[in-house]
Amino acid sequence: MRYLVTGGAGFIGSHLADELTSRGHDVLIVDDLSTGRRENVEHLLGFERVRLVEASVSDADLMDDCLRAVDVCVHLASVVGVQRVLRNPLETLTSQIRGTDIVMAAAARHRKRLLFASTSEVYGKGADSILGEDSDLVLGSPAKGRWSYAIGKCFGEALAHGYHEQQGLEAIVVRPFNTVGSRQTGAYGMVLPRFVHQALEGKNLTVFGNGRQKRGFTHVLDVVEAIRLLCDEDRAVGGVYNIGNPFMVTIADLAQRVIERTMSSSGMTLVPYQDAYSAGFEELGDRMPNISALCDLTGWQTTRTLDDAIDDLVRYLTPGNAVSGEPRRTALYPSGLVRAA
Ligand code: UDP
Repeated sequence: MRYLVTGGAGFIGSHLADELTSRGHDVLIVDDLSTGRRENVEHLLGFERVRLVEASVSDADLMDDCLRAVDVCVHLASVVGVQRVLRNPLETLTSQIRGTDIVMAAAARHRKRLLFASTSEVYGKGADSILGEDSDLVLGSPAKGRWSYAIGKCFGEALAHGYHEQQGLEAIVVRPFNTVGSRQTGAYGMVLPRFVHQALEGKNLTVFGNGRQKRGFTHVLDVVEAIRLLCDEDRAVGGVYNIGNPFMVTIADLAQRVIERTMSSSGMTLVPYQDAYSAGFEELGDRMPNISALCDLTGWQTTRTLDDAIDDLVRYLTPGNAVSGEPRRTALYPSGLVRAA
């Protein structure tokens, strides 16, 4: 099969490109390298079957050519990370909305299957203890920058449904919950690479709020497997699927786990949300996914633990310990982000 992976030089996309390539598929990556990195896929570029096009998905002519040339599109390209979203709510919205419409229209025109990566953030402040795909979406005010990411993704989901219903697009929507693993950067706010980096540097781990908020973390290789299984499954077309881990941990426990796992001398510093982000920041509810739709349809189950993800990030971020295609990141914290005390 020939796959187009938009955002394929990013964290999830590059692991997906690895997996598809290892299974003998052709992979065309389109990535503008705004948050993706060439070095995430550098090790693949020697293969004849893999191509990286450095361009934006808002280039309609290019996307038309790309969709004509492949069998399946996995549309991952997106602004990522709470910090980046808060700094650029307008770009978050416009790039999502324009780019996603262009990609989906081209997929519909050329009658190619498309998997759209939405996000668990669309559940917003949803108070349900277990979030199923038909749960209500409780977003905050559109005037608050944080919600621009979820609003853009909701728009993408609605587009996918529209193109599916009215133009016959074979659309599949996924909502990944917190995904973790190597090649993830803490630069845009993601908690686990930030904690691992802080622990390795012997600095206190910055726990935002009171640390009692909970998340369920899924190893990126398990997420990639879910995406692959769904793309292969005809019965997935037209559906929406959570991808996540219902086993939740508090962020304070996560910090403790990282400290233990890295045998670090670091402690923890509680940072109020308004210092960590900005005044008026709204935290999400505890988001526990119901994953029965995905599991029942594909037989998917997680095969890797949170400790595996911590260990992978430790290997990835340890100086002098770079593995193929995964050089160490040094500039994790652009100015303006909270640093460990
Ligand atoms: N978080 C934290 N310290 C950090 C970065 C994040 O305590 O240095 C918290 C954040 O406030 C949230 C959780 O960790 O409660 C997960 O944050 P992330 O940005 O990774 O994902 P999301 O909020 O989208 O689930």
